[in-house]
Amino acid sequence: MNLDVSLDVTWIHGTAGEPDIQLHRAGDGTFILRQNKAVTYEAPFLFLLAGDDRALLLDTGATPGPESFPLRATVDELIGDLPLVVAHSHGHGDHVAADGQFADRPHTTIVDRDLEAVRAFFGFGPADDRLPGETVTFELGGRTLSIIGSPGHHKAAITVHDPRTGFLLTGDTVLPGRLYAFDYPEFLATLDRLVAFADEHTVSYVLGCHVEMRQQPRRDFPIGATYHPGERRLEMTVEQLRQVRKAAHDVAGRRGVHRFDDFVIYNDPRQGDLLRLLVRGRLHKLIGRRPPRRTP
Ligand SMILES: [Zn+2]
Repeated sequence: MNLDVSLDVTWIHGTAGEPDIQLHRAGDGTFILRQNKAVTYEAPFLFLLAGDDRALLLDTGATPGPESFPLRATVDELIGDLPLVVAHSHGHGDHVAADGQFADRPHTTIVDRDLEAVRAFFGFGPADDRLPGETVTFELGGRTLSIIGSPGHHKAAITVHDPRTGFLLTGDTVLPGRLYAFDYPEFLATLDRLVAFADEHTVSYVLGCHVEMRQQPRRDFPIGATYHPGERRLEMTVEQLRQVRKAAHDVAGRRGVHRFDDFVIYNDPRQGDLLRLLVRGRLHKLIGRRPPRRTP
């Protein structure tokens, strides 16, 4: 593999004095951004991929900004006046919130979050109530991305593969954290599709949009936690992608929460499953660990 990629970075995770946006240059024209955990516990990761003709910004974060989230300014600084497409791994609120910052940017297309807009923009075939599970290409200029229809967590979810870095950008479908599979058959089909894709293409890292797991013990942080001491790394391997797929098949037909070392599967979660998650988050808010104060 001769890929232009580096993930030599320690991510911000909720200690005092961290920047609003952490920027990591992962390669030529490849940027990973993380939103500050103190501003939003979701602390999503965003991806900016630039080609010769245009750039793709995948997701716009969990808060509109720009005061505490100067996303537009950050992007403009990185790509100047290169034409830009703003699209989303999927349409949940913590991935689309700062779309508005790009509304008046010249030579910029914002792909709406809804199914029909995603389908039409990328050129997927006709859709019923979810994106078809097919793969289309998207040209940035000397950099041809593959866009894989990935319903299951969200009906209009996509996965993006970049041949320059080998990144497989899986949104909330595969990440080191809670995998909420709201449409389980589609979630399984998507995982099958991603593993098959990885068998035929060079994939260096599987990158989702959040980290919710600890390094030790290998358990998820409570939801809502704004401080993640000992957070595990963002990137996953193709082997771990295979493990997600195998685990998902193993717990098919068993609704509820299934814990594994590197992820937690929420198989078609019931109200009670989500309520327990929220109660744990509330308790953590009352008695949980706080970040150390910064010494002056
Ligand atoms: Zn989501």
